[in-house]
Amino acid sequence: MRIYKVLFKIFIGFILAFVLIALINFIPTIRLANSTMSVFVGDWVNVYYETEKEAARDAFELAEERARELAELLGLTEKENIRIYIYDKQRTMQTKKYGYIVPFLGLDWHIGDNISTDVILTSPANPGKAHDYNSVKNAVLHEIVHAYNHVLNEDMTYWVDNGLAGYLSGQNPGDIKRYGTIPTLEQTRIKGLTAPIKFADFNGYQYSYSYIEYLDNTYSWDSIKAFAQAGDYEAAFGASEEDIYNGWLRYITD
Ligand SMILES: [Zn+2]
Repeated sequence: MRIYKVLFKIFIGFILAFVLIALINFIPTIRLANSTMSVFVGDWVNVYYETEKEAARDAFELAEERARELAELLGLTEKENIRIYIYDKQRTMQTKKYGYIVPFLGLDWHIGDNISTDVILTSPANPGKAHDYNSVKNAVLHEIVHAYNHVLNEDMTYWVDNGLAGYLSGQNPGDIKRYGTIPTLEQTRIKGLTAPIKFADFNGYQYSYSYIEYLDNTYSWDSIKAFAQAGDYEAAFGASEEDIYNGWLRYITD
């Protein structure tokens, strides 16, 4: 009997240690703002930054210039002020989403993200290995689209959300035939905790861009807007999700 009690205590100990480690991991995500941050206040966005002021100003000006247009393209009915937090180091930005574990995840491409309607971004001044100044600056528009999409339709799929974000922020991947294996219909429905990593692995950013490009070339922007809000393929396009997927396949293989 005693041995079971000891084993049970050890088991509980492991569980508690695991929970504690998980809690500690996510401490950086509790507050997006650092106490030393300054802010640019705009009509559409507020940009908080650490020391890289000029790069933050660049991102702020681009965001202010384009936010209205993005909101209109998505059919946002009420003006939504977006808070954007720009961190000097890519590592700091990543810990704000995933916690202290980020050095083990190898997310060189991960330069920005959104948490509901808040946006976090690496400073364009320190763009990391996979990006440059302009691509990071431009990513602020991608993340603003995510923030708007969150207001518009919380159930929007990861695929459509990123397709719209990439397409509307002009992250044109060029010749799509370069990107190898085309995602399956199943892959376009990706969701869950590991979605960001798997999505990048199958070139989801590039392919979802071309998916929205296909919709734009085939249907009216109003129907895409309706689709963004309700996620209903039949109502917006008079076609099923599978029909649209097959139409897109033909579009990119022709
Ligand atoms: Zn995205």
